[in-house]
Amino acid sequence: MSTEVINVAEIFGENVFNDTVMQERLPKKVYKNLRKTIEEGKDLDLETADVIAHEMKEWAIEKGATHYTHWFLPLTGVTAEKHDSFVSAPLPSGKVLMSFSGKELIKGEPDASSFPSGGLRATFEARGYTAWDCTSPAFVRQDAGGATLCIPTAFCSYTGEALDQKTPLLRSMEAINKEALRLLRLFGNTTSKKVTPSVGAEQEYFLVDAEKFEQRKDLIYTGRTLFGAMPPKGQELDDHYFGTIRQRIASFMRDVNIQLWKVGVTAKTQHNEVAPAQHELAPIYSEANIAVDQNQLTMQTLKRVACQHGMKCLLHEKPFAGVNGSGKHNNWSITTDDGINLLEPGKTPHENTQFLLVLACILKAVNVHADLLRESAADPGNDHRLGANEAPPAIISIFLGEQLEDVVDQLISTGEATHSLNGGKLDTGVSTLPELSKDATDRNRTSPFAFTGNKFEFRMVGSRDSIANPNIVLNTIVAEAFADACDILEKADDFDLAVHDLIKEYLTDNQRIIFNGNGYSDEWVAEAERRGLPNIKSMVEAIPAITTDKSIKLFERFSVFTKAELESRAEIQYEAYAKAINIEARTMIDMASKQFLPAFIKYTKTLADTVLAVKEAGVDAAVQTEALKEVSALMAETKAALDVLVKVTDEAAAKEEGEVQANFYHSDVVPAMEALRAPVDKLEMIVDKEAWPMPSYGDLIFEV
Ligand code: ADP
Ligand code: MG
Repeated sequence: MSTEVINVAEIFGENVFNDTVMQERLPKKVYKNLRKTIEEGKDLDLETADVIAHEMKEWAIEKGATHYTHWFLPLTGVTAEKHDSFVSAPLPSGKVLMSFSGKELIKGEPDASSFPSGGLRATFEARGYTAWDCTSPAFVRQDAGGATLCIPTAFCSYTGEALDQKTPLLRSMEAINKEALRLLRLFGNTTSKKVTPSVGAEQEYFLVDAEKFEQRKDLIYTGRTLFGAMPPKGQELDDHYFGTIRQRIASFMRDVNIQLWKVGVTAKTQHNEVAPAQHELAPIYSEANIAVDQNQLTMQTLKRVACQHGMKCLLHEKPFAGVNGSGKHNNWSITTDDGINLLEPGKTPHENTQFLLVLACILKAVNVHADLLRESAADPGNDHRLGANEAPPAIISIFLGEQLEDVVDQLISTGEATHSLNGGKLDTGVSTLPELSKDATDRNRTSPFAFTGNKFEFRMVGSRDSIANPNIVLNTIVAEAFADACDILEKADDFDLAVHDLIKEYLTDNQRIIFNGNGYSDEWVAEAERRGLPNIKSMVEAIPAITTDKSIKLFERFSVFTKAELESRAEIQYEAYAKAINIEARTMIDMASKQFLPAFIKYTKTLADTVLAVKEAGVDAAVQTEALKEVSALMAETKAALDVLVKVTDEAAAKEEGEVQANFYHSDVVPAMEALRAPVDKLEMIVDKEAWPMPSYGDLIFEV
């Protein structure tokens, strides 16, 4: 056990090429130029880049780095990197120098043909470019491969189309910056220069023992269990949530924190989650672009450190049926460079016209584009959470809390808001406890999109997914609502009157999206349908939202995506879905044919031998015979279901790639997988544990 004292303040950011390092190491003029690029998007000349690259390299070498990599987020959902060493061509003396030029820093040219492009880049034009994103700091990562300088980059095709998540995210940040500034100017703000979305992503994950993980092909190949019966004890006692953290886990968390702090991730909160073996980690929020990169880094770190502790970190949305899945809460707000949070209601929100307009715009954006937000959280694993009796529901609605809902009600009904309810004091009945003032925004854990004090929390995102997409959508739809409002208000003769009317109009027109009740209830599903809110249950049903006329118009207006980019993204989503289900189906086939059926055959032989032996001894073998019959019947069911799954999976593979194929996987292969799982799970409840060919749920989640 390590009790070594760690000085967090000292190690925090020690492996980041951050502002302090840049100020220390770069000549004044170069530093100034770089800040201009970071803050105002000014072009960086090659001479400046050369100086930065040189200093970055010297700094990285001091940290032990031998290689550098452009670090990017292609549409595979995981980060990609290609490592180059700093070694230059040998000198006549036979020695080498360590070099790194401005050109190498700014631009990379990975062979892009193997990354998904959804038809955007014909394979004969395989060139893709990575371009340095100087707004997200470079860092040195230390792992078993030594130390590597990682440079966050965007990834584009030869013709400039985005092949990654970062490029559209940066574009969407520019859009919301521009439109939010317009809005602020209308309210007389002349001082704020920049508006940035801030994001804090809470990350849920499971930890299982590595040795047990290795015995489950489903976990190895798909990240989730494809078979498995619930143990006698599940999460019904709620005793894991916020429970004391076990020593093995605590030591893992300590290492994760240290690793994250070193690379500048502000790991802040950690606790046990609802399900056994489930945990959560949250950093302090940062600029959207940095938050997206750091969330990727966090996921990588969780996985790496888990291995070092003899465990495996499962980031899948639903590793175990019957216990809670994992998600990612995307906390989002918009802040100016001089520290104003546009989502801060203040003590008396009814008097805060600017806040009310911002709120009305967000309601409108979410109501109009609920389908896009839903899609932004779609991935194959999330199909098991959204709309499947689990948090959160697949229907997008907004939770405002009592105070704001009351203000909105006043505005809609009378056109005038005259007061704000306040939270009041919390009376514990114990005089020695401090008096606590209650939050005016009560918590509602079942809402997919909740206002929580001074931010919105989008809770649909899957635990394994990048948070880039949800933030691209959020930034762009809110930019659109701001732009529409500004178009009207900038022309108004009487601003006060116009803004008052507009707030009332937006709130009235979009009030159907507000829901403060229990989002898990069946009544809500019926109520949402009455309100006409979309209830999109699966990923394949969500994807068409990307390419509707509404979506194309939105994204082209703010230059976030072109039509071609949107079409390619829809294509990639369909392909990703088909591939994921195909792997799951084939893994099930493999496990059923090579592990389960052989085990059942052996087991029935043992039972049959027992029946014979018992009968021979002249004793009644009714119980043994019954068991044998039951197992044999379920075994036959397993074999029949396996044959069906083999057939439909082959059929699926032969379909035309894209929408048709993805839909077939959803409509035919997924049900066949469920049909195969059912008898095997029943057998797991009656077959001798010794005869079961792999660790059970109980072994996996209660014995970490
Ligand atoms: P809870 O689990 O109660 O929602 P946490 O503290 O676990 O709360 O997570 C809240 C997340 O929201 C943290 O990442 C936090 O930094 C982030 N956050 C707090 N304020 C803001 C804000 N104004 N904008 C964006 N994110 C925020
Ligand atoms: Mg939360």
